[in-house]
Amino acid sequence: MNIAFDIHGVLSDVQNIIPVVNELLAAGHDIYVISGTPVDEMKEELEQKYGYSLSIFKDFFSVIDHVRRTRPEVDITVNSYGWWIPSDEMWWTIKAEICEENNIDLLIDDSIEYMQGYLEDKFICYNLIENNDILDFIKIAIEEINR
Ligand SMILES: [Mg+2]
Repeated sequence: MNIAFDIHGVLSDVQNIIPVVNELLAAGHDIYVISGTPVDEMKEELEQKYGYSLSIFKDFFSVIDHVRRTRPEVDITVNSYGWWIPSDEMWWTIKAEICEENNIDLLIDDSIEYMQGYLEDKFICYNLIENNDILDFIKIAIEEINR
């Protein structure tokens, strides 16, 4: 199964999420990363800031890179909060587009705004679930998808 994780608020919660990622890897699932920042930045952050070995991830997807490729007319800027596009409404749809394009079966993210379109029934909101329960929620979701 293709399972994707957000960085900020999910993979950034290294101590709690690493055991979950490791168990999913051991069970043979492919783990992907989806974040806002361009892929080269997210790889650096995962490695340098959070201590991940990049080889555990099958692929990396970026909201900004996706917007650049699919909507060249959009004015992308960086401000003190980070990467920014002029439309919040557009921003929140992009992870669903990325997941649909790449056959992601499940996204674990802390921002519920991304739960729309293709992701409507393929989404686990990380910060609504107790840390100890997150793996169980993922396993149940996988069972549902396999059904
Ligand atoms: Mg986040």
